[in-house]
Amino acid sequence: MDFLTLDQIDVKNKTVLLRADLNVPTKDGKVTDTTRIDRVKPTIAHLVKQGAKVLVLSHFGRPKGVTPEFSQEFMVPALAQSWNVSVLFAKDCIGAEAESVKNKLQPGQVALLENVRFHAGEEKNDPAFSKSLAALGDVFVNDAFSAAHRAHSSTEGLAHLLPTAAGLLMAEELKALEAALEKPQRPGAALVGGAKISTKLDLLGNLVQKVDVLVLGGGMANTFVFAQGTDLGKSLCEKDMAEQARDIMAKAEKAGCKIILPVDGLAADTFAANAPHDVYAIDSIPADRMVLDIGPKSIQNIKDVLKDCKTIVWNGPLGAFEIEPFDTATVQIAKYVANETKAGRFASIAGGGDTVAALEHAGIVADLTYVSTAGGAFLEWLEGKTLPGVAALKQHAGQQQKRQA
Ligand code: AMP
Repeated sequence: MDFLTLDQIDVKNKTVLLRADLNVPTKDGKVTDTTRIDRVKPTIAHLVKQGAKVLVLSHFGRPKGVTPEFSQEFMVPALAQSWNVSVLFAKDCIGAEAESVKNKLQPGQVALLENVRFHAGEEKNDPAFSKSLAALGDVFVNDAFSAAHRAHSSTEGLAHLLPTAAGLLMAEELKALEAALEKPQRPGAALVGGAKISTKLDLLGNLVQKVDVLVLGGGMANTFVFAQGTDLGKSLCEKDMAEQARDIMAKAEKAGCKIILPVDGLAADTFAANAPHDVYAIDSIPADRMVLDIGPKSIQNIKDVLKDCKTIVWNGPLGAFEIEPFDTATVQIAKYVANETKAGRFASIAGGGDTVAALEHAGIVADLTYVSTAGGAFLEWLEGKTLPGVAALKQHAGQQQKRQA
């Protein structure tokens, strides 16, 4: 690992600034899904056990300045319950309020600080704001991979001011992602679906350089099929993106990456659950119908090609998975990938956008090698971009090594 991990830093009796991503979904002032909170629990447990005083930093929503509805105070009971510790709250993340709560903490205790985005300096990565945060702690632990695509004070700036390490969740996520694309067991495949290619051009351009096979499904596959001269009736299709689709196919050919497109589809009258539909060959879609899922031959083709692979990266549903029966391909391939993963035949990494919801719908999230809930950060990583929060962790570790040499 080219970044420091928790076991490499001494936190006993030290004040640790822990950046978590507690940007949780809510309804009527209550947390509706505690996944993000639960995933930080191992890092909290480690720090508590080691006798650190833990100050938790996070953002919640997109407030512009101090905005009461974006206060993080409401989540304190959910944190305490998930982490099984009592959690104090500071009404500001810097200055006297934060200092006063910090001074109340004993080793092994935890406090949540108010939303870092209440200060304009956070998103500007303002050195003065970073300094005010750093003044509170001795050590910075970053456990927010899902916020690592932002160069903000609490995700990037702090790593330049304090001894810094990755939290357990961040380390686990980076390990899984590097194993998937940087040093994959070959052959490696990427499975990409979702609505449109316009939102995934960079992602596709990067993946064709990294994997041996690119399997396309969902609405975006329609654009590729169209770019090869086949009309798809009323299907979702970005006709003005045909040129870009052809560019990606040319890039793939040059890189030796095979592209697998659907050969058949379930085409329906309307975008609605149980809309009248039939299976058609992809070059015979009626002018008044729309493809809402890939068909049975395409599903079999995908299984045949994945069966020879050792690593699979998946982003995007293969059809309109929210409405039956157009969830069929997504569910069948998800179950296939889950079973093969469980049997140890390949490693599978999935995430981004609607992918997690689609895999939850298939009921197999726990069976894949790794499912990232990071959304935007996962997508930027698939695009091959440098994530500032991760780069800062690595830079910090590099400087530390130089100092020790
Ligand atoms: P994305 O956020 O780009 O991963 O896209 C996910 C969305 O793509 C989901 O809401 C799906 O319903 C939609 N989608 C997938 N396949 C199709 C299709 N063939 N036609 C219309 N929408 C689709």
